[in-house]
Order: sequence, then structure tokens, then C-alpha cells
Amino acid sequence: HHGYIEVVIGPMYSGKSEELIRRLKRAKIAKQNVVAFKPQIDNRYSNEDVVSHSGNTINAIPISSAKEIYEHVKDNVQVVGIDEVQFFEDDIVDVAINLADQGIRVIAAGLDMDFKGEPFGPTPKLLAVAEFVDKLQAVCIVCGEPAHRTQRLINGEPARYDDPIILVGATESYEARCRKCHVIDND
Ligand code: ADP
Ligand code: ZN
Repeated sequence: HHGYIEVVIGPMYSGKSEELIRRLKRAKIAKQNVVAFKPQIDNRYSNEDVVSHSGNTINAIPISSAKEIYEHVKDNVQVVGIDEVQFFEDDIVDVAINLADQGIRVIAAGLDMDFKGEPFGPTPKLLAVAEFVDKLQAVCIVCGEPAHRTQRLINGEPARYDDPIILVGATESYEARCRKCHVIDND
């Protein structure tokens, strides 16, 4: 078997988790041995599933470092799924390469840009070494055009460039937006 790397990218709400779940479910229908992973920090809805915003789910193992994947990938595994790949360290790229070299189909989904519109974590490196890349679009909440970016809002206002990752006592939310409607305050 030939292994390869597939990456699904785009902003929040673009359907990355949905697409990952769709591909993994089809592999299961084909009677392939599938195992899915997600970073431990993402407990959006459930700790043991990949869950899309539309409510689709597939079982996933929460892990805190990329190398843990090796402990769960036995000889008979044919397909490995990884959601929220942007939250891993750069060594996720080596793990994906190793698995693909062993003949495994690796499907990773994640954000290509952070809320500042800058490349996010290991995703750009993974794109570079992948055989297949699909960049999905969401719908811009402001104007209805295709959205490639994720707007961060703090108490309903656009986040500033240096706003801390963790904000105690503030309400934080995210929206899909196009280039024109995406706002980053620099002051
Ligand atoms: P991602 O993993 O990219 O964040 P999900 O697969 O979890 O995306 O969710 C995609 C679903 O989110 C869509 O099918 C749609 O039902 C819903 N959705 C909510 N807001 C939007 C939006 N602004 N643009 C597109 N889809 C949206
Ligand atoms: Zn817009």
C-alpha cells in the first residue's frame, strides 16, 4: 500500500471537521482500520469525539503530544485522522511523514491561519509535504461572500493584535469572515 498525506484547511466553520469525519467514515465503510486523534486541549463538545459544528461525530483519542500517536497505531492501522492539527507542535509533521512512509493514509484537518491572518503552528509545514490539500471556505458572517479568515471577538468587539490568548472574565467568540470584513486592531 502507498501511504500519503491529505490536509483539509480553512477558517472556523468551513467544514473541516465535517470533511474529516466524512473521509474517515467512508474508509470504515471500505472496511479499513481507522484511528482518529485530536489535541487534548480541544474539549469543544466532548473529549472522545471529533465533533463538527453541525453535530457529526467520530470517535477520536485525545493526545497531548504528536509522538503519542505511535502508541496507538498498531500494525493493522490503514488510515489515521488528525483534527485541529494547528494545536500540535512541529513534530506532528515528522509523525505524519513517518506514518505515510509506512503506507498509512494520513488525513489532517486544521486552521491554516490564526485570528490575525498569520500561518498557524505546524499547518503550513504540513501543507508543504502533503500530496493533497483542500482549502475550504466558510460564509462571511458580515457580507455573505466566501470566508477564508477567522475573526476573533472579545466582548463582541474585534480583538486587538496583542490581546492575550487567555482573557479572564471576558466573553470570547469567533466568526468566519472574508478578507474585506476581517478586522485586526493594531493600537
Ligand atoms: P470547522 O471544522 O471548519 O470549524 P465544522 O465542520 O465544525 O467546521 O462545521 C461546519 C458547519 O458549520 C457547516 O456545515 C454549517 O452547518 C455550520 N456553519 C455555521 N456558521 C457557518 C458559516 N459562517 N459558514 C459556513 N458554515 C457555517
Ligand atoms: Zn465579508
